[in-house]
Amino acid sequence: MPPITLVVGSGNAGLTMAILLARAGRRVCLLECQSSIGGYLRRFTRRGMRFDTGFHFTGGFNSCLHQMLQVLGFEGMPAVMPLVNRVHLTPANRTFELPNSGIDDKEACLKDLFPADADAIAKYYQTEKQIVKETAMFDLHDDHEKFRARLSPYDSITLQEFLDDLQLKAPELPVLLAQMALCHGSLPKETPMTHHCRVSHGLDDSLRRFEHGGDVILKRMKEILAELGIRVITSARLIELADFNNANRCRTAILSTGESLPVREIYFATHPDVFVPLLPQGLLTPSFQRRLRRNRDSCSFFSLYGELHSQLIPSNSLTQIVSSLDLNRVLSPDFPDYATAVINTNEADSSGIMRRNVTAFRTMSLSEALSQTEMKSPNDKRTAKYQDFKRSKTEDILNDVNDVYPGTLEGFEVFASATPLTCAKYSPPRGSAYGVMRELATTRIFGRLPVGNCFALGHNALLPGFLGTMMGAFILFRTVLGEEPYQKLLKEAKL
Ligand SMILES: Cc1cc2nc3c(=O)[nH]c(=O)nc-3n(C[C@H](O)[C@H](O)[C@H](O)COP(=O)(O)OP(=O)(O)OC[C@H]3O[C@@H](n4cnc5c(N)ncnc54)[C@H](O)[C@@H]3O)c2cc1C
Repeated sequence: MPPITLVVGSGNAGLTMAILLARAGRRVCLLECQSSIGGYLRRFTRRGMRFDTGFHFTGGFNSCLHQMLQVLGFEGMPAVMPLVNRVHLTPANRTFELPNSGIDDKEACLKDLFPADADAIAKYYQTEKQIVKETAMFDLHDDHEKFRARLSPYDSITLQEFLDDLQLKAPELPVLLAQMALCHGSLPKETPMTHHCRVSHGLDDSLRRFEHGGDVILKRMKEILAELGIRVITSARLIELADFNNANRCRTAILSTGESLPVREIYFATHPDVFVPLLPQGLLTPSFQRRLRRNRDSCSFFSLYGELHSQLIPSNSLTQIVSSLDLNRVLSPDFPDYATAVINTNEADSSGIMRRNVTAFRTMSLSEALSQTEMKSPNDKRTAKYQDFKRSKTEDILNDVNDVYPGTLEGFEVFASATPLTCAKYSPPRGSAYGVMRELATTRIFGRLPVGNCFALGHNALLPGFLGTMMGAFILFRTVLGEEPYQKLLKEAKL
């Protein structure tokens, strides 16, 4: 049997990679340890309503998103809806509504609100735009010269240092400007300004939601997998890399089902805890091991899902409720501070009736959830203590929402809740929302691994989120397969 290219992990990163490789002529097999594919793109049903597990909104509609979907094989852009963008700062007891009609409008709004900081606000957005302009792949047509890795001056400055240098007068501004740090989960005092801006830009510019969320993406991706003849294996793991040649390339992958697959390359779109134990320990260089030791998971979430029976929260809106003016405290497991995101959308249920679907999720680390429930692992049996913990956190979050939208307590009917332990079950093994945190002066475990034909991608490896994980797959494809196959894909997609 001719060797196959194996993609391990079927979240957005693995799905994108599998489709790109198959479009380039590889025989691809997609391996997923759970019974269904999709990772955080998946949704679930309660009382006829559909709820998101880990994909609520995205950005990038004015840059590369439509190009990437076109290359993958989407016929046109799925229907999208803009979201009202509100930030409530609890310490200031103020709610801000920020425009969602482009980054320039957002900048103008903040300058109106805080005229004494107008120059600093202009500098912030100018820098964000410059970083994105200098980053290849926000436009898939970026040429090879631009694509070559090059250090930016903003790679060596943290988001916090940048904000400090702005000498902002209004204490609310660091959170309002860096609002989207909540969408990468890395601490401002550690994360490079470049990383922050790359994740934030699309969201700052056009915060949008696909109608029907991840369903619309996953449904089409499943069709494409079938059209391209990609073999999908679920409920199975890779348990051994075997049969190495002299160039340290693995030639056989052994699965938990007992099946041996002859492999050409393996792409891991999972947490490093999944693949590092499989790599021959003799090949792990000290620098690789140091990078692994520094890995820390980004936050996870405690989520509530339900129906809203009142009009108090605007339809199709995102409200971020932030308990501290210091995002380092909000995103660190060492402080009790948090942010709660409330998404309210109108969506037809399984009977075609329009209902107000509400999801509220609060930052929480897996370690916090384990210690509060006195559990050792997400696989432990759920105890009475766990149920108490769920009840008390549910109350906390409902109170949070009620503080911002008084009266919602009665109108918010909770159908289900999910803890970080639940997340670790649907995105094993760690269930973090944005994968491994990004730190200044550390190289990510992205691309080539110490085994010659093995590679890493996904939100643990480069950029998080829907846009970031898709873009990471395109970058890895272009790096590993080279310019010719990449340009061919663009041409075939008529780009
Ligand atoms: C509550 C929540 C809300 C979020 N909201 C948003 C949002 O609104 N917008 C946004 O852009 N991002 C959001 N994110 C982040 C986003 O979901 C992720 O960054 C992104 O989906 C990660 O994609 P991925 O493919 O890297 O990983 P995942 O989607 O986690 O996929 C990894 C896959 O690998 C599989 N796997 C694990 N171990 C193995 C193994 N041993 N063998 C085989 N398969 C394995 C897993 O089962 C899973 O299917 C949110 C995350 C959470 C948790």
